[in-house]
Amino acid sequence: MILVFFGPPGAGKGTQAQILAESKNIPHLSTGDMFRAAIKNQTPVGVKVKAVLDAGELVSDDLVNELVAEEIKNERYNNGFILDGYPRTVNQASFIDALLKEQNRPISVVLNLEVPKEELVKRILSRGQGRSDDTEEGIRKRLDVYHKETAPVLDYFKDTDLIKHIDGVGSIEQIQERIHAAI
Ligand code: ADP
Repeated sequence: MILVFFGPPGAGKGTQAQILAESKNIPHLSTGDMFRAAIKNQTPVGVKVKAVLDAGELVSDDLVNELVAEEIKNERYNNGFILDGYPRTVNQASFIDALLKEQNRPISVVLNLEVPKEELVKRILSRGQGRSDDTEEGIRKRLDVYHKETAPVLDYFKDTDLIKHIDGVGSIEQIQERIHAAI
């Protein structure tokens, strides 16, 4: 099963993706985590993307697409996986959609976590993970980028029956239950 967690920054994608990955025993691939690890380890990719993440902008489609395509070749992804933070643009969506179809393992479901904007800002400011992009300005910028570049991904999938809308307001357990009911 290949699941995609979709939604704005602060919607809880990472938290829910992690829980689901453990319960299904499949890997959780977060492109944001991948970039933060690269930055921390000062790899060539990390050096290249640090300023982009700090500015709340998006890493180039070509780079993200290439990294994800390489990563999922690993055999630990053979039994399915969960994507979190990817695809984040229409270009990324058409790339991964085509690639996975070609590999005879199409996307099974896109879980769209819905949370009102004010709640998002509040959550991110209080999560206190020390992320350099988690400032009020950084969050507003990421929300802006989300609306302009990422929300159109829903349109890309709208003629399929892949999208499940999940109310993302509630306790972690409540949201977990809604996800289980939807898949
Ligand atoms: P959030 O959803 O809270 O903004 P993420 O951890 O998903 O956090 O992403 C953090 C940053 O990493 C993004 O603001 C962006 O700079 C970069 N990033 C992550 N995934 C992608 C992607 N698929 N395409 C482009 N940039 C990405």
